Amino acid sequence: MKCVFCGHQLAKDTQTIERRIKTHLVCVKNVPVDSCHFCGEVYVDDNIVSVTNQILHFLKDQQISNNVVVDFKTFLEQSAANLNNDSKRELHNLVTA
Ligand SMILES: [Zn+2]
Repeated sequence: MKCVFCGHQLAKDTQTIERRIKTHLVCVKNVPVDSCHFCGEVYVDDNIVSVTNQILHFLKDQQISNNVVVDFKTFLEQSAANLNNDSKRELHNLVTA
């Protein structure tokens, strides 16, 4: 895959995505992205965006009271492992203040 802006080859990378939920800052760490080291453009796959949105929806339901950090990879592993269980309670363990 090549950068649509400058044509250079993209490299696999990870990024921390920050969003605000009400007054709290949410950091999603280790989000897989393709980045262009030439011009700095970052490309995020649709699937990755959708998982990131799942994480944010999940956190909104939790009525968080602090800034939180979620690890993208851990969230994926846990949500896959807990599809048939009460996943919300399990996933809550991933959220660290
Ligand atoms: Zn580029």
